Amino acid sequence: MNLMIVRRTLCYLFTLYVLSSIALAQARPLPGPDVQQIYNRLLPQIEKIPIFDHHAHPGFADDPDVDAMAAPPGSAALRERDTNPELIAAAKSLFGYPYDDLSPEHAKWLIQKKAELKKAQGVSYFSSILDKLNIEQSVANRAMMADYLDPKRFVWVFFVDSFLWPFNNEQETERNPDQNVFIPLQEKMFHRWMQQEGVSKLPPDFAGYLSFITRTLEDNQKRGGIAMKFEVAYFRPLHFDDPTREQAEAIYKKHANGGVPVTAEYRTFQDYIFRYLIQEGGRLRLPVHVHSAVGIGDYFNISDSNIMRLENILRDPRYANVTFVMIHGGYPLEREAIWLAAVKNVYMDSSLMEIIMYPSEFKASLKQWLETFPDKITFGTDCFPYNEVLGAEESYWLGVQSARTALAAALAEMISMGEVTEAQALQLAHGYLHDNAVALYPGKVH
Ligand SMILES: [Zn+2]
Repeated sequence: MNLMIVRRTLCYLFTLYVLSSIALAQARPLPGPDVQQIYNRLLPQIEKIPIFDHHAHPGFADDPDVDAMAAPPGSAALRERDTNPELIAAAKSLFGYPYDDLSPEHAKWLIQKKAELKKAQGVSYFSSILDKLNIEQSVANRAMMADYLDPKRFVWVFFVDSFLWPFNNEQETERNPDQNVFIPLQEKMFHRWMQQEGVSKLPPDFAGYLSFITRTLEDNQKRGGIAMKFEVAYFRPLHFDDPTREQAEAIYKKHANGGVPVTAEYRTFQDYIFRYLIQEGGRLRLPVHVHSAVGIGDYFNISDSNIMRLENILRDPRYANVTFVMIHGGYPLEREAIWLAAVKNVYMDSSLMEIIMYPSEFKASLKQWLETFPDKITFGTDCFPYNEVLGAEESYWLGVQSARTALAAALAEMISMGEVTEAQALQLAHGYLHDNAVALYPGKVH
């Protein structure tokens, strides 16, 4: 081989090397023909990842403690209705349902089967649902824990909204028919906390009220509570101003013994209490979960409850020690919302999103999240006894199946388009389904 040829060969090899490294380094805008194959390879591996369900309401339909509020009628999105044909697949998979429709006659079989299993399995009934879906542990975001949920598998997240409504709520209740349902339930929750703490009436001064709140948080934490939850967007706007303690104290003094606060006064008081609660969440290492999506009912105000209205709180350095979990990821504003997770103590949870959206659509949202802050996203189902056929059991199934398939599809595209390697993709899958959430509760969940 003469020198010329050697040179030419070296030059050619160098060009090849440069081209191939460009091909490896440069992501492509379209997935290749290998995407289905990659998906087929990823899905079984993803199914083997034990899940931590970061947001769920496990329980039976007749259990009033499944949530601190009740669902107003109507407005269920297409996939959440009892007409969803996927529910037949859920019933087959979970209970061996023998029919191919959910006619009232056939549905009786399912109701009967669940009743039998509930009786025979007792405390392991819901644990066996988790086993079937490879969920290792699930949050139980409930008013109170149920004795039929095994505490080894279900960890309590308790509600704190009721501390925002201690006064005469006549005016609040009359605002619309939904508040008519919600506010009395908040009052009921408030009285349960009072009962728990041995408080028979509102403390005479504001300092006493704040210490009642703190005692409740501390006791709930001792009783196994791992986080506090706000569903406050259902009851008032999600923007919180920054009043002084003196302002809040004056309102407390005025109304602790009666009288109906005007809306502006009540909001100011609530702004202060909300901030007090999250500050205590930082001190006690109790992460703060906030409902941040659209809500059910005809009167849920979407512009008032837009997740972006929380931005002043999430980016406030005074709360840098508070872990915030944005439950439902700000849906349907999840594409903007993921940028709130740029703040180091803010996390996004995808619960409800993968139940309302079909996997084809959820895949796109999840992919955008995975491509932005993959270490800040967590999985949840928002399972809930929605109706007779879409129970907590079936909604666990629907959430898990949807998330796993959408995750495998999103990652398969990302691999095929040269965005991540297969090993990195599996790491992201572990993070989303388990590791990212578990890391927020050191020593408390696994
Ligand atoms: Zn929920």
